[in-house]
Amino acid sequence: MGYDFKIHPYARFKLHSIMPYIPGEPIEIAAKKLGLDPKMFIKLASNENPLGPSPLAMEVIKKEIEKLNLYPDDSFYYLKKKLSKLYDVPEDWIIIGNGSVEIIKMLASAFLEPGEGCMFSEHSFIMYKIATLSAGGYFVSIPEKNYKHDIEKFIRELSKKERFDIKIIFIDNPSNPLGTYLTKDEVDYFIKEVEKLRGESIILVFDQAYQEYIDEKDYPDVLEYVKKMKNIVVLHTFSKIYGLAGLRVGYAIAHPYIINALLRIRLPFNVNRLAQLAALTAVDDKEHIEKSKKVNNEGKAYLYSEFEKLGIFYLKSLTNFIFVDLKDEKLTKKIHENLLKKGIIVRPLRAYNLNTALRISIGTMEQNQRLIGALKEILKK
Ligand SMILES: *Cc1c(COP(=O)(O)O)cnc(C)c1O
Repeated sequence: MGYDFKIHPYARFKLHSIMPYIPGEPIEIAAKKLGLDPKMFIKLASNENPLGPSPLAMEVIKKEIEKLNLYPDDSFYYLKKKLSKLYDVPEDWIIIGNGSVEIIKMLASAFLEPGEGCMFSEHSFIMYKIATLSAGGYFVSIPEKNYKHDIEKFIRELSKKERFDIKIIFIDNPSNPLGTYLTKDEVDYFIKEVEKLRGESIILVFDQAYQEYIDEKDYPDVLEYVKKMKNIVVLHTFSKIYGLAGLRVGYAIAHPYIINALLRIRLPFNVNRLAQLAALTAVDDKEHIEKSKKVNNEGKAYLYSEFEKLGIFYLKSLTNFIFVDLKDEKLTKKIHENLLKKGIIVRPLRAYNLNTALRISIGTMEQNQRLIGALKEILKK
């Protein structure tokens, strides 16, 4: 797919092996290609909040538009204060990024010397790979076990001599695109074992993009470790439950040793005015958060039961999407293409080398029912 793009032969060697990030297609473009009305389209491809942005956030940024001639607050005075209170950490333990993807990139750039490496699961969020390669590093990808991060394999790999140049481990918890998670016990064990091998010299990044959706009692609170150790990073985003993907805001919490390293390579004014204000407001929009969670939980239960009736293999998910595996490449392609013709965009996972799988974001109940109706029609044919 992405390899089609020719690049200048003088571009850095490593860049030749990067497959550019391929996002879910925007509704306008997908509709236009098919000659259909964008209004009849639903997008269940990028794990966006189907209820829209926080209404309170939308309201406040209207007035902010008048200030767009002014640079944004590069110290993030209000947003850092807010997050500092929310997590009970000092403000200098926080960095704000242009989406959490920017922070992922900063981490790789700040910690990898050329030729050093990162480690993550084979089907983890694809940005870890892109960030690693673009920083001139190499990666070790660890196959999952029963669709979950295989922490034993991580530890075994990390204990090899030739892996002493691994600087960062990225764990998306829960995983994207699988939706599965490591429990508190597993994370406790993992952090302890890594510490035995490498002390605090290796950066452990826990990407918790979906945390606000999660009620499971055994889901770990990594923040406790962040507060105690100098090598743990937790990543968060405003793109998911807060519904602000279009504005691009994410943040990381870690020991100032790490934050200060990232600040040295951060571009000035990396998060715009509207984004900062919207994020600040969305944090307190409890009504929108609760409603989003409820719609997601109901949609998830509905989709589970319908997939079961249809005999479609799926993974239980802690997120706002569900991983389904149709176990047949032709069928997967047929479903993806025919859903598109019916105005429903889901995410094929070819970029992850999962040619028989789809990632389907949970929509509103109406959207979920339309999806299931369409699936039934396609499978009948
Ligand atoms: C969606 C997602 C993000 C969010 O990225 P942003 O740049 O903040 O929009 C980060 N990590 C994972 C695992 C995700 O699924």
